[in-house]
Amino acid sequence: MTPKTTARRQPFKIGGVAVAPGGRQTIGLPLSVLSNHTPMALPVHVVHGARPGPTLFVSAAIHGDEIIGVEIIRRLLALPVLAKLRGTLLAVPIVNAFGFLSHSRYLPDRRDLNRSFPGSARGSLAGQLADLFLTEIVAPADLGIDIHSATIHRVNLPQIRISPQQKTMEELATVFGPPVVLEAPLRDGSLRQAAAEVGTDVMLFEAGEGLRFDEFAIRVGVTGILRVMKHLSMVPARSVRDAKVAPMISESSYWLRAPEGGVLRSFKTIGDSVAEGDLIGIISDPFGEMETELRARDAGLLIGRTNLPVVNRGDGLAHIARHRRARSVEAAVGRIEAELQEDPLFDEDEII
Ligand SMILES: [Zn+2]
Repeated sequence: MTPKTTARRQPFKIGGVAVAPGGRQTIGLPLSVLSNHTPMALPVHVVHGARPGPTLFVSAAIHGDEIIGVEIIRRLLALPVLAKLRGTLLAVPIVNAFGFLSHSRYLPDRRDLNRSFPGSARGSLAGQLADLFLTEIVAPADLGIDIHSATIHRVNLPQIRISPQQKTMEELATVFGPPVVLEAPLRDGSLRQAAAEVGTDVMLFEAGEGLRFDEFAIRVGVTGILRVMKHLSMVPARSVRDAKVAPMISESSYWLRAPEGGVLRSFKTIGDSVAEGDLIGIISDPFGEMETELRARDAGLLIGRTNLPVVNRGDGLAHIARHRRARSVEAAVGRIEAELQEDPLFDEDEII
């Protein structure tokens, strides 16, 4: 990857502040003033390496209740190896501070930030935040990693989502080393779409449950970001072990939705492989008089599911990434988990 800035190392300028090479600083980009006169800012931590290299942004909580990335970024910023950084890291652990404070996916104007890009300085609150984030963080970067989780009451197996047919991103996603890489088309108004228009590649890391932490998902995230940084020569080669297990690359996925409202018994969980026709769960009425079976339409790996057994007709109950050899991937998920369990990266007391 050719960095956007290759000239002699200059201070990194953002929000009227200049961070000197070899320095790091948290900066608040002014966003708005709340109704009670409290100023609201978009906080970013800049680590500006002493030596040149690419600019990487890592962001989380674009959906305010998807907090797993906040912990992933906290651990990333605690790593001593950042003292040797080449290039620049822009860490934004909480993009949607409004939703984060109210444990909500949305902004106070009830908009979804990830449908509000590119936004506008004169638009709605969501539009203004999208515009600020895109202009100050996304556009100056060469690459971005945006962290999400499932929404509340749902859980996702750690997975990277990239645009279809993008070979360079597929390579980076493989370096990251999640159990699954899913090709997902760009959505209108999403960060990924707006980033593509300003020439910044973005990969999305999806892992865990809304409003919850999950140790496996956090470890896949921290090691994955560090592996990408190592691949881009931003950190020394010994900073992190390479992934030993290649991810399952899936070109499509499907949701099993509830055909009826009722009470769900689930027989499969994330990381389980399914064959076509496999029983995934049964929905029954509270008296057990009527039962509706849910069966897999195609073979694949269960990458997301609901944790809430009370379901309405049409609710997404299980998300399955299509793959013919999902059974071997099921074993690979266990190997990745075991590998991360004993990774020396997580021995450091100050990180955990
Ligand atoms: Zn999200």
